[in-house]
Amino acid sequence: MNGVSTNATTAAFCGHCGEPSDGGAGPTSDVHRRCGEQLAMEPPRYCAACRRRMKVQVTPLGWTAECSRHGSTEMRMRP
Ligand SMILES: [Zn+2]
Ligand SMILES: [Zn+2]
Repeated sequence: MNGVSTNATTAAFCGHCGEPSDGGAGPTSDVHRRCGEQLAMEPPRYCAACRRRMKVQVTPLGWTAECSRHGSTEMRMRP
């Protein structure tokens, strides 16, 4: 497995730990691999664009994470 980008979006920060996402140089991708696994199961805590703490609401269908600047992200889990 070599250098698979996490998302198509321009994520500057990791949504799970809030650390800067690596831009392709550096070993941080290894660190954030775990974050990616976490993010697959639970909502992000930080906005990937500005690193603000997001307001997270868990719903029966999934979750909604809202950044006061960038709006909300909604995830629906499949039944
Ligand atoms: Zn991370
Ligand atoms: Zn934001």
